[in-house]
Amino acid sequence: MKYAALIDNEKFEIREGELRVKRNPIIKVTHVGVCGTDLGQWKEGSHHKDLVIGHEYSGIIVEPGTTGLFKEGDRVAGYTQNVFNEPCGHCENCLNEDFDNCTNRKVYTWKGGDYTHPGAYSQYTTWFPKSIYKLPDGIELDEAALIEPFTVGLHAVLLTEMKPDDKVLVLGGGIIGLAISEWLKVYGASEITVTEMNKEKIELIKSFGIVDHVVASDAKDIDEQLQTISQGGYDIVFDCTGIASAIDTGIKALKQEFKKKFTAVGLPHAPVSINYERIVLKEVILRGSKGHQFHEFRTVARMVADKKLDVKKYITTRIKLSEVQAGFEGLKARRGADVKAVIEID
Ligand SMILES: [Zn+2]
Ligand SMILES: [Zn+2]
Repeated sequence: MKYAALIDNEKFEIREGELRVKRNPIIKVTHVGVCGTDLGQWKEGSHHKDLVIGHEYSGIIVEPGTTGLFKEGDRVAGYTQNVFNEPCGHCENCLNEDFDNCTNRKVYTWKGGDYTHPGAYSQYTTWFPKSIYKLPDGIELDEAALIEPFTVGLHAVLLTEMKPDDKVLVLGGGIIGLAISEWLKVYGASEITVTEMNKEKIELIKSFGIVDHVVASDAKDIDEQLQTISQGGYDIVFDCTGIASAIDTGIKALKQEFKKKFTAVGLPHAPVSINYERIVLKEVILRGSKGHQFHEFRTVARMVADKKLDVKKYITTRIKLSEVQAGFEGLKARRGADVKAVIEID
């Protein structure tokens, strides 16, 4: 089989190799979403030599394994965490049938894969059997590769316990910010404003018709713009950037009334320095949101299958696995203009 391995900073190499597994099902990967963390690992490829990344995938079972959970031809998506604490079936100990000493038991996919922990930038992959989700009819395989980011959005919105009619500001118009916006709509937000840096993407976001206002995050008068749009401030802010200046803008944009909510979703790359005083004076309810839960994964898949959630429009870029290197160079050159890139396994 062919797979893409990281070999150096910003460098993939397409290789030919074998997937060795015991017990687990083998999945023929059809689609894999390019996550922000994938781009980060590609940029720092010299630290991830030989790594096979890719965790937002969908595909078809070609070898059901011995668990009895699957049959050949089942359409599936990978749930990205080993929530059921299963042995992986593909580390050195599992290959020797010493499943009790599996070295991957507590490993989460967002770390990417390696030879013992295969990622999905590959023609075939495998995963913890109970964490492979059988897709309902009605959801297409490319859509299924977007379940994960929409689950991250759902998790953040559920944790925040918004009230219908809340006015909401979302900092960062990437796929997570837009997924949050979709769920805000579902749960009845009265007004959604998104901030975004990339000019081209601002127009794209407007064209989706989901959010009410899109504001350039580098606008000099952003604070005034947000006050005018919200007519006195927001009830809730979601941060999907992890950037100090954006976070400060968000806290400033909350209503002066007490107990407004700020939910931190974007992971900063380094400690951030923010205006803490405002959090105290406004009695801001600050909380973090990380990842998702299995039942949320099911909810997203069901909503897409029932045509209540249109995720397909967010696939703005398609890249063939054999051209993944050029594809990633393109993503870098467009500096965030893409909403979601999906790799099609050829
Ligand atoms: Zn991801
Ligand atoms: Zn194992």
